[in-house]
Amino acid sequence: MNRDPLTNILAFLAVIVFVAIIGYLLGRAKRSNKQKILEKFLNGFAIADGQDFKEIGAFAAMSQSFIEPLCILAKGYAHSGEFEKAIALLQSVLNHMPKSNKTKEVEVLQSLADIYTEAGMLMRASETILSLLKIDSRNIDALNKLVILREKQGEYEKALEVLDVLEELGRVDNGSREYIKGLLELKNEKKPTVQSRYFDRIELQNAIFSNESIDGLKAASDYKTSLDLLWYYNKPLNSIVFENINSAKNGQDVNDGAPFALKLLAKASNIKADLRFSYKCEICGHEDAMFFGRCPKCQNANSCFVDASVVQKTNIESAMFT
Ligand SMILES: [Zn+2]
Repeated sequence: MNRDPLTNILAFLAVIVFVAIIGYLLGRAKRSNKQKILEKFLNGFAIADGQDFKEIGAFAAMSQSFIEPLCILAKGYAHSGEFEKAIALLQSVLNHMPKSNKTKEVEVLQSLADIYTEAGMLMRASETILSLLKIDSRNIDALNKLVILREKQGEYEKALEVLDVLEELGRVDNGSREYIKGLLELKNEKKPTVQSRYFDRIELQNAIFSNESIDGLKAASDYKTSLDLLWYYNKPLNSIVFENINSAKNGQDVNDGAPFALKLLAKASNIKADLRFSYKCEICGHEDAMFFGRCPKCQNANSCFVDASVVQKTNIESAMFT
């Protein structure tokens, strides 16, 4: 059977965890002569080797040193898309682990919330974070995650409430408040009052799609917000971005403030060059297929900009667009 490397690593990790558990149980069985514990484990292992991972978490109750490897194993399953196994395993660990160790319980709840988030189960993820906050109400990492979850769920008022708590704890806001306020305004069908490339771009896109005039819109004079949209725009427009795009397309010099790609294109107009666009985070460099309001990697709000690079026009595209 051909298996991908990640599956092999997971299988290997599972074996390490199970061997550790067997070793522990053999020692324990020898000491206390409780062979039944070992039998129970082996039965559990047979089931676990198939689909049901619920029994395995019971070993978290026997030794706390199993909790961490079981969490790593669960994360491994989640990364390979086996969310059901990952969740069943962690829930079982939570059900069986001693409640006296609050630090470990918080760690497991954090892992479980991450897996729910990765699986797109946002409601469950929020509930898990709330359980965690009942134990550790000042957990900054959990509060940050709750802001993002509330935002993804469209519960902007609740997200702002969590930001209040974070600010009371002395955390500096990274633009989240303004961004979420803007999302709330959009939800209430108001024009966002906050200064942001993201909302400027939405305004520009809406105007283009509904065939309204885009003259004077803020985004139309900012390369980082609109370079790709204005590249394909074909009506007369009073905008510095638009003027420089046309100059570059015609092999004429562009302004000093224009992006490097336009300057290069102006010089390369005789060699069938084209622009390729990507959407990048100014803070962490993450690149995405679409313009984003909040960076999916570093979670900063309003850090996205349109980046352009010069590429050679392919024959297919030349045929399509000329
Ligand atoms: Zn980022």
